[in-house]
Amino acid sequence: MLSKNEIERYSRQILSIGKESQNILKKSRVLVLGAGGIGSGLLPYLAASGVGFIRLLEPDIVEPSNLSRQILYAADNIGALKGATAVEFLSRLNPELDMEWLPVGFDANNHAPIIKDVDLILDGTDDIHCKFLLSDIAVKNAIPAIIGSIGNFQGHIFPVAGKPGFACYRCLFEKVPDEEIPTCATEGILSPLPGIIGSMMAYLSLQFLITRGFEKRIYLMEKGGWRHIAMNWNPHCSFCGRF
Ligand SMILES: [Zn+2]
Repeated sequence: MLSKNEIERYSRQILSIGKESQNILKKSRVLVLGAGGIGSGLLPYLAASGVGFIRLLEPDIVEPSNLSRQILYAADNIGALKGATAVEFLSRLNPELDMEWLPVGFDANNHAPIIKDVDLILDGTDDIHCKFLLSDIAVKNAIPAIIGSIGNFQGHIFPVAGKPGFACYRCLFEKVPDEEIPTCATEGILSPLPGIIGSMMAYLSLQFLITRGFEKRIYLMEKGGWRHIAMNWNPHCSFCGRF
């Protein structure tokens, strides 16, 4: 049940989605990989909108080059642990939030206990290996995930429903490319772009947590606008056809 304070705090959103849906958000548990540029758009909206529990994986420290887009952090946070700083920021934003931070990355050996009690996994890393791993884990464990990617002037969001008939990352990309993938550190990035991708991921997260429905599409942001691309399961996929 929502407390009186919660009903007041979320009153504008409750007008839009109703108390029952707000209560669903309160009971929801999400795992977020990374509190960088995408996380800076994603995490504050997850926290502010009343998602009950957030587990954050983030091992890095705040660097001066982060500040142009990672707005969870201020100049006096340089050198501090990102995860601890993000938790402090988000707890001040919404004291009702239950949050856990683990100072580790996401890998094939540590994920089992980390994913077992969450409804949804959100990727905001800039690590292509992490995106493939997350997609594989989502399919194997039937846990939905939303993968966010950015580069220079464009970004995309790839929802992986983790159930038969829905596409996985390998349905489109097959395998990690042999050539080096550009990152923000090598290719550059327009400052607001990761925040736009992150806040759209927050929007899609709320939609999923409330309805448990996934659209079969990829969300592509380029040239200042959004495009949707239909994304159906690929029967020739080397991975998800096995589950
Ligand atoms: Zn697949």
